[in-house]
Amino acid sequence: MLNEAKNLLNQYFGYTEFRNGQAQIIENVLQKRNTLGILPTGGGKSLCFQIPALLCNGTTLVISPLISLMKDQVDALTASDIPATFINSSLSQLELQERLYDIRRGVYKLVYVAPERFDSEYFIDILNSVHIPLIAFDEAHCISQWGHDFRPSYRSIVSSLKKLNQRPIVIALTATATANVANDIRSLLQIDSDDTFKTGFARENLSFNVVKGSNKRDFIMNYLKQHPNESGIIYTSSRKETDGLYNYLSVQGYSVSKYHAGLAEIERKEAQEQFVYDEKQIMIATNAFGMGIDKSNVRFVIHYNLPKNLEAYYQEAGRAGRDGDESECLLLFSKQDIQLQKFLIEQSTFDEEKREQEYHKLNQMVMYCHTEECLQSYIIRYFDPNELESSCKKCSNCKDTREKVDITREAQMIFSCCKRMGERFGTTLIAQVLKGSSQKRIRELGFNQLSTYGLLRSQTEKEIVDTINYLLTEDYLQLSDGKYPVVSLTEKCIPVLKGEETVWMKKTSAPVRAESERAENQELFDVLRGLRKEFAAEEQVPPFVIFSDATLKEMCRYFPIDEASMLQIKGVGQSKYAKYGQAFTDAIKEFVTSNNLTVKEAPKPLESLVQKIDITEIDIKPSHVLSYEMFTDGFSIEEISVKRQLSTITIQNHIIRSAEEGYEIKWSKIFDLGTEKRIINALNELQSDKLKPLWESLNGEVNYFEIQAVICKNKITLEKQ
Ligand code: ADP
Ligand code: MG
Repeated sequence: MLNEAKNLLNQYFGYTEFRNGQAQIIENVLQKRNTLGILPTGGGKSLCFQIPALLCNGTTLVISPLISLMKDQVDALTASDIPATFINSSLSQLELQERLYDIRRGVYKLVYVAPERFDSEYFIDILNSVHIPLIAFDEAHCISQWGHDFRPSYRSIVSSLKKLNQRPIVIALTATATANVANDIRSLLQIDSDDTFKTGFARENLSFNVVKGSNKRDFIMNYLKQHPNESGIIYTSSRKETDGLYNYLSVQGYSVSKYHAGLAEIERKEAQEQFVYDEKQIMIATNAFGMGIDKSNVRFVIHYNLPKNLEAYYQEAGRAGRDGDESECLLLFSKQDIQLQKFLIEQSTFDEEKREQEYHKLNQMVMYCHTEECLQSYIIRYFDPNELESSCKKCSNCKDTREKVDITREAQMIFSCCKRMGERFGTTLIAQVLKGSSQKRIRELGFNQLSTYGLLRSQTEKEIVDTINYLLTEDYLQLSDGKYPVVSLTEKCIPVLKGEETVWMKKTSAPVRAESERAENQELFDVLRGLRKEFAAEEQVPPFVIFSDATLKEMCRYFPIDEASMLQIKGVGQSKYAKYGQAFTDAIKEFVTSNNLTVKEAPKPLESLVQKIDITEIDIKPSHVLSYEMFTDGFSIEEISVKRQLSTITIQNHIIRSAEEGYEIKWSKIFDLGTEKRIINALNELQSDKLKPLWESLNGEVNYFEIQAVICKNKITLEKQ
């Protein structure tokens, strides 16, 4: 069979070898198994159903979300002498009737249809009069509401399929499927997880770049100057911006087209053709452009604005370099764009749950712009959290040669400020408090009274925000979903606050000194060093045993002239104060008076600030307890899995762990009495609580989670007795 497939590959498409994944998918379909193929954009998904269609008797149906996509594919097939057509709303009544007539006659090997067509009984009747061996769902993520491009009409095909006399084999194809989306596709289309084929998401010929803080138009002008004669797409997030940039660049003499949903169909068609046929070099467009466009020599894709999520981004950026040649993907980041995406979420008709999910995805998109991890690796791990971190060596992060600097102190200040503000505010306000801003709102909230107020005065607000964003991507901090995301601490902060761990960040300049790190007074340092020497000689110990240099320097910064302020100094505890405190405060007092210095109230050294946050007071809930709480709030395991972006297995383990730790579980939500009895009987018979044999002895009719839960419940009851 596979040999035949290969012959067809050569005969009709002119290729000699299958690409990664194609052969396995085709073979699986030919073995009459429902199949899901997850291949990156440009991976060659179309052939995965076109070749089986040629090898099967009858007519294969292809469900496709976009009219332009259908037409292109049908044109290409027709050009290769493969009888194909499409049925969608662009046809006149006459054309439609002719095509339906030919479908009845079995003229076509492939028929592309828009999903809405399945609502028509008449159409179903026609399908029932011909042999349909295979039905392909192209861009199958459209079927899932977790996907980035959900189409309800896609989903409703599932029930229409039941009306077909014979059930065709199903093949679903997509480039961008998170675990949730893949699960959804599989369960809706009855595809076994063993029949899922996935090649790596990595696109090795693409280099990803995030560009921050530059004037976007200047950047584009510069980029285009450096990349003459290259074909590329610039995506903007609104029609207005597409128009604006189009005008700007055409005035400058660039060869540009534009495409957005506000243009007449004929204009769009013309623009697309000019671009595809290399008559125009640069396409400026909204996300309405691109799906199914098979232009292989796109050398760059620039996102002028932040996309709504990484699925959309990877799909759009992935339109670069389909021919396998090196190509660039650039995202021009500016903070204002986040507001626009939020606005779009607010304006949408999504229900509350979906809205939160969209906010969550948006957050992850923003994190992409702030991470220091390899960008390719970040994207891949977004789609598959089990992937290991790796380095593509060519994204803007991998190429960033700036040194990592120790930002532990800044991090501590940020954590402690966030904590003191009650973990109820967003990035900007936290940055403003640390900056010591005199905004009215800050005064009204009394945040100018906080000990962390103004601690990072020497930095710009933007620098502080950047650091907070970085701490968010590194999971020291977390952002709630929703319109006004709130920053809170995670468990990862604790060792940093305790001074047990260091935080590093890539920065151009050396870390900015905190305001509290004043320069020490060198003269006083000499005086105190002399005093220390006297004590050391007297006690016959090395001087640093009395006080370290660091401690002396701190005294020379803060001029502690009484017991309370002396005890604030790092390295001065009660016992040392008792021995040397008086002598040192006296020496400092004398120095201050004789030099006519005024001692301002010394800002508290950071260590004492940090110590004052009672670490135990930071009640960060462990992950499993969060899942547990959602479970008792009535969410199902699947819902929690979606909300928390963790696998269902992880959530199940969370629930079991919480039960073992003594949290009350409503077991009836997991299993019923009958199931419990069956499992207990099997346990008694087997005399073992090993999961696998137990599961097998129950013929696989109960799932692992139920077994674990029953064992857990009964053990707990036994212990209590
Ligand atoms: P996808 O739908 O996965 O984004 P397409 O099916 O549109 O990708 O294919 C992308 C490009 O790769 C097309 O130009 C196609 O002709 C080409 N292609 C597909 N399979 C092969 C192959 N085995 N060898 C060479 N080129 C291929
Ligand atoms: Mg495709």
